[in-house]
Amino acid sequence: MSRDFQNRSRSRSGISQLMDDLGKAMSGSTDMLMLGGGNPAHIPEVQNYIREALERILATEERFEQMIGNYDTPMGNTAFRVAIAELFSNEYGWPITEKNIVLTNGSQSAFFALFNILAGDDKHILLPITPEYIGYADQGLRDDLFIGNKPEIEHLDNQQFKYHVDFETLSLDDSFSAICSSRPTNPTANVLSNAEMTGLLDLAEKHDIPFIIDNAYGTPFPNIIYTEADPFWHKNSIVCMSLSKFGLPSVRTGIVIADESLIEEIAEMIGGMGLAPCSIGPYLAYDMMKNADITKISNTVIQPYYKAKMELAVAAFDEFFAGSEAFIHKPEGAMFLWMWFPALSITNQELYEYLKTEGVLIVSGHYFFPGLNDEWEHKNQCIRISYSQDEADVRKGLKIIAETIKKFSA
Ligand code: PLP
Repeated sequence: MSRDFQNRSRSRSGISQLMDDLGKAMSGSTDMLMLGGGNPAHIPEVQNYIREALERILATEERFEQMIGNYDTPMGNTAFRVAIAELFSNEYGWPITEKNIVLTNGSQSAFFALFNILAGDDKHILLPITPEYIGYADQGLRDDLFIGNKPEIEHLDNQQFKYHVDFETLSLDDSFSAICSSRPTNPTANVLSNAEMTGLLDLAEKHDIPFIIDNAYGTPFPNIIYTEADPFWHKNSIVCMSLSKFGLPSVRTGIVIADESLIEEIAEMIGGMGLAPCSIGPYLAYDMMKNADITKISNTVIQPYYKAKMELAVAAFDEFFAGSEAFIHKPEGAMFLWMWFPALSITNQELYEYLKTEGVLIVSGHYFFPGLNDEWEHKNQCIRISYSQDEADVRKGLKIIAETIKKFSA
């Protein structure tokens, strides 16, 4: 194991603190208002659909026994991979087969494999726009794996703002081996525009490196997007998807779609680390992938569900923060409000600690700048809240945050 990785594994990372706080709050051991985690909502229609899928498995001879009793190949369940390839080629014209697909135990472990395969001993991964997903930060076997870039900030009406890729300041040389962005972005709720995606793809092609698109909240499933965005594929892209935000985080099913040789390398690494990915997600989701219900449910149930929650959260923000030095990123997708308090007299980590004593769990924004080593006060002025849980709790939590911000504003 590399020394960097060993040191990091022995210290407390942002993601493990987050998962710990989240786990405690979800298990009911505290009375926290849970605005912190990335847990998807329990949507009754989705849960009933999955329950019925399980009942069909239980009612079909040998199916349950196969699901629990066999290892899959390191590539993951073949029938499920064929169904995914057919969905993408039939509905979106992507020229892929199951050989372009590997399943992983959650997309989180796909990123570990991808980043380290691509970066090797001395290359970097470019995060063209930070803030970016906290879960990347500790994935590298080396400390200097990521180079992050600051965004351009556009100020909008209604105390909102939006980040854009700052192409002027993006500089790539041959020390980079990939570009990576989440779309929608966790934590900011930004959705890179089709033009930004094309610009990044052009840049990747020019340097002959792949463009990794983290589609955990993206289109076509779970499609937690409130703006125009097309499913994005190119032979030079690596698309990472997940069943988690559809409502199946516990079955740990990540899906990587990429060039065949890279898929084989990832399967090789996964085989070495864990023999095979979990089979339960592929069994539960097989029918919905085969008959494309996964995209229909995403469009007609999941997207409207989160959009309504987002609108309530924004209405609460407008009510409690009107006129104060508080801004939110335009919520274009995912399940978060990314809040910016430029007049904050304490750091966001101190704000996190204080709010915890007030019974509100948020995530401090400073974790979300992997690879951005510049001193930038913005890093200490933002927090992420999730609106996926109970709406009354989100309102209560936002009210307490608004009162706290007044207390700690310079
Ligand atoms: N990517 C993003 C942007 C996420 O927010 C998450 C989880 O919150 C993941 C990847 C990892 O998800 P999973 O490992 O459950 O597929």
